[in-house]
Amino acid sequence: MAGVVIIGAGHAGGAAAGFLRQYGFEGDITLIGEEPYLPYQRPPLSKAWLKGEASLEDLYLRGENFYADQRVTARLNTRCYAIDRAAKIVTVASGDHIAYDHLIIAAGSKARPFPAKGVEHVPHHLLRTLDDAERLKSVLAPGHRIGLIGAGYVGLEVAASARYLGCEVTVFERESRILARVASETLSSFFTSTHTAHGVNLVTGAHVSELSLGDGDKKIVHLADGSRHAFDLLLVGIGALPADDLAVAAGLETGNGIIVDEQARTSDPTIFAIGDVTSRTLPFYDGRFRLESVPNALEQAKQAAAAITGFKPPVVETPWFWSDQYDHKLQIAGLGVPGTTPVLRGNPASGTFSVFHIDGDGRLRSAECVTRPADFMAAKLLISKGKTGLDIAILADPDAPLKPLLQ
Ligand SMILES: Cc1cc2nc3c(=O)[nH]c(=O)nc-3n(C[C@H](O)[C@H](O)[C@H](O)COP(=O)(O)OP(=O)(O)OC[C@H]3O[C@@H](n4cnc5c(N)ncnc54)[C@H](O)[C@@H]3O)c2cc1C
Repeated sequence: MAGVVIIGAGHAGGAAAGFLRQYGFEGDITLIGEEPYLPYQRPPLSKAWLKGEASLEDLYLRGENFYADQRVTARLNTRCYAIDRAAKIVTVASGDHIAYDHLIIAAGSKARPFPAKGVEHVPHHLLRTLDDAERLKSVLAPGHRIGLIGAGYVGLEVAASARYLGCEVTVFERESRILARVASETLSSFFTSTHTAHGVNLVTGAHVSELSLGDGDKKIVHLADGSRHAFDLLLVGIGALPADDLAVAAGLETGNGIIVDEQARTSDPTIFAIGDVTSRTLPFYDGRFRLESVPNALEQAKQAAAAITGFKPPVVETPWFWSDQYDHKLQIAGLGVPGTTPVLRGNPASGTFSVFHIDGDGRLRSAECVTRPADFMAAKLLISKGKTGLDIAILADPDAPLKPLLQ
């Protein structure tokens, strides 16, 4: 029996190997990863790892013995080059062919190319891998001037960590507000005040037109308004694209990621895809989504492992995400949809509040909770229940328990 081959030894791939065994799979499992590390968690890379508060053991998804104990063959430092669907084999960099009965593609996402002029001549950092984080950490020193291009969650987490380490930080964001594509105006405004209070220089509406090198190895950011800004180091974090090249070459159905069903199955019934690389449907929302989050990676790892083993499918989850910046723990339940009305619960100035987004039927579609874990837990349940006609007065009162709304 050829068993299961997993391409990508990241969060989703590593988790899938574990779930397969947990659900009773007895065959061979081969986990192919191009990085030199066993599966590790990426969220700490922009947070605890940069601040020197996490060790490699803290990052690992499972202890080093887990893979041998569970008879999972981890082929690290090994890039997979091709999938031959007819022969049911994958080819890796050494030229080896590995046969599969079922294939799981868990190749994650890759940094979106930055289109500014001069970018290829100016050294800059990206932050996707542990090696990236290690390179960045080694140069974050007190007093260093750091330029961050892109104010998404990862960029802002790095800004917070760099301030903690005593760096001078400027963030350039093309949109008129930070987190414009992923957060409400209230949340953007809260994090704008927070970062500004911590000494971060946020420049919004900033079109970076060119990068160049200046005296003393300085990296110069040119904005379309003609201004120039010099830094000791630059980090570009303008989002990610699905690492779906192998799937495209193999003729699987793709479109902003590999298209999968609710079992994480691709257009080829023997091939599954999980994690950042997928485009999936969600029970509570119309359309297809490519989610870059740990909960999504874990949920789809369970879906694929359950489908392969015949184990019962996992409970459907409300999508969620978190981000830590300074002392603030942001948890987001659900996805932003157009046409909702925000209901504020609590006072942003206090540092603990939630924003609930309600549709025309009085149904909760998403919630942004800042250091309000109980609101977040209730919001996840309310979204999955899809209850209409929610009492806005209760939602808006930070002292009113949300439990009655769940009944
Ligand atoms: C800095 C940072 C901070 C984050 N913070 C958060 C957070 O706070 N909360 C949250 O929910 N999510 C966060 N995320 C996102 C989260 O880490 C990802 O959604 C999650 O890792 C997705 O898992 P994955 O297995 O799909 O992809 P990954 O974990 O990226 O793993 C994919 C792996 O596949 C490998 N690979 C790709 N192609 C091949 C190939 N052809 N052959 C062999 N190997 C291959 C890659 O090298 C990689 O190791 C963060 C991500 C980053 C980078």
